[in-house]
Amino acid sequence: MHYVSTRGSAPALGFEDVTLAGLASDGGLYVPESWPSFTAADIRALAGLSYVDTAVRVMAPFVAGSLDEDELRGLCEAAYGRFSHQAVTPLVQLDHRNWLLELFHGPTLAFKDVALQLLGQLFERFLSRRDDHLTIVGATSGDTGSAAIDAVAGRAKIDIFMLHPEGRVSDVQRRQMTTVLAPNVYNIAIDGSFDDAQALVKRMFNDTDFSSRFNLSAVNSINWARLMAQVVYYFYAAVRLGAPDRPVAFSVPTGNFGDVFAGYVAAKMGLPVAKLMVATNVNDILHRALADGDYSQGQVQPTATPSMDIQVSSNFERLLFDAGGRDGTALAEQMRGFEATRAMRLTNAQREGAAALFTSARIDADSMTMAMRWAYDGAGQVIDPHSAIGLAAARTLDLDPAVPVVTLATAHAAKFSDAVERATGTRPPLPARVGDLFAREERYAKMPATFEAITAYVAERATPRA
Ligand SMILES: *Cc1c(COP(=O)(O)O)cnc(C)c1O
Repeated sequence: MHYVSTRGSAPALGFEDVTLAGLASDGGLYVPESWPSFTAADIRALAGLSYVDTAVRVMAPFVAGSLDEDELRGLCEAAYGRFSHQAVTPLVQLDHRNWLLELFHGPTLAFKDVALQLLGQLFERFLSRRDDHLTIVGATSGDTGSAAIDAVAGRAKIDIFMLHPEGRVSDVQRRQMTTVLAPNVYNIAIDGSFDDAQALVKRMFNDTDFSSRFNLSAVNSINWARLMAQVVYYFYAAVRLGAPDRPVAFSVPTGNFGDVFAGYVAAKMGLPVAKLMVATNVNDILHRALADGDYSQGQVQPTATPSMDIQVSSNFERLLFDAGGRDGTALAEQMRGFEATRAMRLTNAQREGAAALFTSARIDADSMTMAMRWAYDGAGQVIDPHSAIGLAAARTLDLDPAVPVVTLATAHAAKFSDAVERATGTRPPLPARVGDLFAREERYAKMPATFEAITAYVAERATPRA
């Protein structure tokens, strides 16, 4: 399988190179040069398979040429063996048509584990083949940092430096990062905001000398391998609800458009997806883009769903490319316009291509709270605020009543216990596997938010390339 850039001028690469590169050299994102296609019989044959067996079937075409099936199986077993539920991503029924797909049974209690646990395995395999070393640098406002640290802690050939804004992540989120004492993990609390942290990281990547000396890599959701890992659970859930003989709709709480784009990929591969609901909070750039063609950046408003407080959705570019006819040169021009003015209109082709499968809803704090109460009162399910945004949007879908609607539950309620308690009156306890989080030793550096201080710290500790 070869991958092409959404901006048309970077070289096509195989899966191994795409995984290690992250972003394409022309500033675009990698997508497969064509979508693998599953027949109804192929999908029917997934019935009854375990999560790992499903993962191997669904991902095999994407990794062809880089990993054989046995290697892929070994990596999946290592990644998903760390989940606390035997089904890895179990379905829970809420009423006669609504279901939750629980994606939070990984080590850090958020759906990002599903992709990052596999990415950690892939990095290690590919780096040892090449005898190369990687320095991961990232900024986090919570979930990504802990999931990435857990995925690479203790791995040879990788160091990870994670910046977080001091005092602005929750205690659970901070401790999930700072109590990992592996020697290749460096947490840095900066005296500044998340945007300051992000700006520092961007500057490090733009410093080409620094970046190539330490082989810097990012783990944000622009990495194709992350999206690929997320395609699996759409198949896994739909097959359990009757696919390929019965279409299924999905509602996805969305920020960077990674998770819901994986649903689009599943549909392109032949899974009968009736609709993909893009559920946003009041930071609604994606809702405006899909409803009116208006992709213009607003001010980020902080909400109870911080992982969706986003005003630029990096993976949306992949949809614009594919739905708009795969014209990389035209898209590069359109994205340059957006980067200059922070606004753009979708083309008619992009709008029509997206409308065939996607719909969207903007969910405010009241509707989110009502969805949490509805799940608790009607089905005894305590859900987190992000999942509640998805569920509130799911309940606005106007579809054939025979189509089951699956809401992706992206975080464990205990990660956001204050908001959950306000809505439902119950405070969800941390699950046993992270129960001693508050007794563990923490280790992190505190630093001013200056480029000089951070780069000196990284340069002293990271492994330069041979
Ligand atoms: C990251 C995240 C999201 C948003 O996922 P995207 O792939 O960025 O759309 C939703 N909910 C939770 C809990 C998250 O951590």
